[in-house]
Amino acid sequence: MSRFDVRRAAALKRLARCRPFVTASLCRVRRRCGNPRCRCSRDQPHQAYVLTYKVHAKTKTVHVPKDLLMEVRRWVQEYRQVKKLIREISYQSLAILRHHVPASRAVARSRKLSRS
Ligand SMILES: [Zn+2]
Repeated sequence: MSRFDVRRAAALKRLARCRPFVTASLCRVRRRCGNPRCRCSRDQPHQAYVLTYKVHAKTKTVHVPKDLLMEVRRWVQEYRQVKKLIREISYQSLAILRHHVPASRAVARSRKLSRS
């Protein structure tokens, strides 16, 4: 096993241990609820959190309930780690290809080495 195989195997192991994630960004938004007697209609809009994500290049949003905010933060955070690991695994796969020595050439090389 090459050092690239070793690094890729390690990254794959870490990827398998990743926690739930979401490929979206968490954004704080300010909203007015529509009630004309609510304080938001004058000066203080309500604060809410949404996740924004893309589907076929279109940005979509989904409301994040307050009681799930901490959990959703972790999902967003975890995706950064997942993305990093995916990049690492892909990089090592490419390195394996670039450094590959065909079996026939490897045999020829080891014969030459043992003769000298
Ligand atoms: Zn309101």
